[in-house]
Amino acid sequence: MIVVENLHKHFGGFHAVDGASLEIRKGSITGLIGPNGAGKTTLFNVIAGRLPATSGRVLMDGEDITGLPPHALFHKGLLRTFQIAHEFSSMTVRENLMMVPAGQLGETLWNTWFRRRAIAEEERALRRKADEVLEFLTISHLAEERASNISGGQKKLLELGRTMMVDAKIVFLDEVGAGVNRTLLNTIGDAIVRLNRERGYTFCVIEHDMDFIGRLCDPVICMAEGKVLAEGTVEEVKNDERVIEAYLGT
Ligand code: ADP
Repeated sequence: MIVVENLHKHFGGFHAVDGASLEIRKGSITGLIGPNGAGKTTLFNVIAGRLPATSGRVLMDGEDITGLPPHALFHKGLLRTFQIAHEFSSMTVRENLMMVPAGQLGETLWNTWFRRRAIAEEERALRRKADEVLEFLTISHLAEERASNISGGQKKLLELGRTMMVDAKIVFLDEVGAGVNRTLLNTIGDAIVRLNRERGYTFCVIEHDMDFIGRLCDPVICMAEGKVLAEGTVEEVKNDERVIEAYLGT
C-alpha cells in the first residue's frame, strides 16, 4: 500500500532520515521501532506531508504522493493521528469528533463558512456517527467531557476515534503507549485490532512498548540512524544482532 523509496530528510547537514526504504502492506499492522533519534517521527512527518523530503519517493497504491500536503493525503485516506490541539481542548469529546470532517480539509475561511452551514444541516448525522465511534471505542461515557479533562490514554482513543469520522485507509500512529496505563493500553490495542479486522484499516505504529508491539504488529520494522536495519516478525527483529547492537549503542 505504501512504498518508501530511498527517502532522505536532512536538517542542515544532519541526516535524520538517511536513505530509508520500506513497504507497508495493505491490511497489516506494521510496527516501527528503533532507538531514540532513529528518524521514525521524521519519517512519519515526511510520509504524512508535514515535512518535505530532501530526496526519495513515497508511493501509495503505486501513485507518487511525495510532498502532497496533509489535506490532500487526508482525501486519499492517509491519516496521521495528532495530539488534540490546544484550541480543541475546551471542546467536548463528542465535539472533537464532529469537527473532524470539516477541520482537516485545509480549506479557506470562506469555504469553511459554507461547510459550517452544511454541518449545521448534517449535524444530527455527524452526532450519530460520533456516538457510534465512541461506542466502538468503549468511551461513550466521555461524550460530554471536555477533551482537556480526559486522561492521556483516553486522549489516544479520541485521536484514534478522529480517524474513524472519515474514510481512513491507512493510519500512522505515534507512540500510543507513552504514559498510558495497562488497562487502557489494552483497550487501545483492541480498538486497533478491531479497526484492522472489521474495517480494513492498515496501520503503521511507532511504539516503544515491545509487549504491545508483539501483541499487535506483524511485520515489525526497525530503524536506526535514519535507515531501515531489519524487518520481520517481532521475534525475528528482537533477536536480530544489528537491532540488539543499535539499542545497546544508545
Ligand atoms: P525518533 O522518532 O526515531 O526518536 P526523530 O525522527 O524524532 O527520531 O529524530 C531523528 C533525529 O533528527 C534526531 O536526532 C532529532 O534531533 C533530529 N531532528 C528531528 N527533527 C528535527 C528538526 N526539525 N531540526 C533538526 N533536527 C531534527
